[in-house]
Amino acid sequence: MRKITIAIDGFSACGKSTTAKRVATILGYSYIDSGAMYRAVTCFFLQHHVALTNPREVLQALREVRITFKVNTRGVSETYLNGLSVEAEIRSMRVSEQVSQVSTLPAVRTAMVDQQRKMGRDKAIVMDGRDIGTVVFPDAELKVFLTADLLTRAYRRQQELLAKDDLVDLNVILDNLIKRDEIDSTRAESPLRKAPGAIELDTTNLTIEEQTDEVVRFALALMLKPVG
Ligand code: C5P
Repeated sequence: MRKITIAIDGFSACGKSTTAKRVATILGYSYIDSGAMYRAVTCFFLQHHVALTNPREVLQALREVRITFKVNTRGVSETYLNGLSVEAEIRSMRVSEQVSQVSTLPAVRTAMVDQQRKMGRDKAIVMDGRDIGTVVFPDAELKVFLTADLLTRAYRRQQELLAKDDLVDLNVILDNLIKRDEIDSTRAESPLRKAPGAIELDTTNLTIEEQTDEVVRFALALMLKPVG
């Protein structure tokens, strides 16, 4: 079967990561959560009080950031920052409130995109984010753009946080999603856009199984297509 690259983009909390992870498991592909990389950078910047307005400080900090992924004993991939797991911290509201601002910085994007392209060199990968189909892998064989209505997304994010014993008010989440959508889609560098040729999937009324099945069906059709 042909090895392909699958790019899944969309607004915050549309179920991109959950879908991407499941698709990767079903196809036996690697999965990379590019949002986790931007979150890990944000974590480092917060820990070291990096001034976002100081390009030299940002560049120096980026040289010190090493992001890796490791599968834990429960088979779940965790994000590591300089050898330490930051999986819980990167999902906190503190990081969520800063990550989109950090992600507007061209130096941050260049560093992350370079790393993401290296990770996807051998194909057989599912990567989710905001600019995967437009910038990171514009030649990806399968590009998916996920959407869902705002309230559904906020509620899903609240449930996700609750599963980690973090009770966050729905209005706080709504506010954060609206702000991130706005920053992510209006920034000068690689704004969130549906890539040309991307398949749009509204997940508002879909279960996670249904949205996974849709993507897997598209992927299999491409993987089974003869090369050439
Ligand atoms: O996907 P997730 O919501 O974890 O991403 C967190 C933030 O990281 C996004 O709101 C966006 O600002 C940034 N991001 C990005 N480009 C990506 C992935 C995430 O700018 N490819």
